[in-house]
Amino acid sequence: MRRATSPELQLPITRRSLLATGLAAASAAASGRFRPALAAEASVGVVATTGMIADAARQIGGDRVEVRALMGPGVDPHSYRQTRTDILAMTRADIVLWHGLYLEAQMEAFLTELGGKRRVVAVAEQLPREALIHHDSYADKFDPHVWMDPGLWSGVVAAVRDALVDLRPESADFFGANAEAHLAEVAALDEYVATITASIAPDRRVLVTAHDAFKYFGAANDFEVMGIQGISTESEAGLSRIAELVDVLVERDIGAVFVESSVSDRNVRALIEGAAARGHEVSIGGQLYSDAMGPEGSYEGTYLGMIDHNATLIARALGGDAPERGMQGLLAAGT
Ligand code: ZN
Repeated sequence: MRRATSPELQLPITRRSLLATGLAAASAAASGRFRPALAAEASVGVVATTGMIADAARQIGGDRVEVRALMGPGVDPHSYRQTRTDILAMTRADIVLWHGLYLEAQMEAFLTELGGKRRVVAVAEQLPREALIHHDSYADKFDPHVWMDPGLWSGVVAAVRDALVDLRPESADFFGANAEAHLAEVAALDEYVATITASIAPDRRVLVTAHDAFKYFGAANDFEVMGIQGISTESEAGLSRIAELVDVLVERDIGAVFVESSVSDRNVRALIEGAAARGHEVSIGGQLYSDAMGPEGSYEGTYLGMIDHNATLIARALGGDAPERGMQGLLAAGT
């Protein structure tokens, strides 16, 4: 059992438990006698906008954090607006972690305002500007989809660690060790993705998806990336864009395009029909997790699983050499 004198417990107990458990806790706190239930309540309350950021906070915070993600599987962050429940959760949290780089376009004003009153950190904004790809529709903005490149995402993991350490310096060693372990996993993932994508013939490294979420993946792994919609799902895909991509599919003999879990597949199907009308068969290479992770509790519902799934699916659909069960399968086989 943790002792009441543990420095990391003092602040949370005085600040939070009194409200949470009322007078009984108040009298226990005053007399310095704490039960284990109070120690559990002393964990850091984190609200993260995306599942990917929530996953990083859980990896680093372990049992010392209570993490809530506002956007679940299949949710599109470009168009998501905070609900009343979200607002309540954010105002009660010890820290709010959001992505930034204009990913949460509809929440930005709210989060910026909240930042004036509460501890709010835009973790992807901490990345060096020279590592970012410019936004194709706004000269002063950047492409927010940095999680698609594990090398870049490791910078976001470090930013999550720094935000937690800043909030609870007494847990710096604990957060630091967990972050180091997770960063090693992210580095292994980066290497796996590079290896399997390199096995795809260079002229077939063309990725056609519903919206432009994969530019960082493309830049890191030497792919040409074409989204039917732009960087934000809020832009409209015109008929001319579809016709343009049908030309590319036919001319370059590309046999697979991909749908995304958080974006409608309507445009992708229009593309396949357009190619079929020109006598070129295109199949759906599978469903990629672009802006949201897979189902909660599944491997794809973690950052590692999300990127493993995407890279493995892409490599296999485009004729590369990748194990059926991905990096997870390799690790399970102990090779
Ligand atoms: Zn997106």
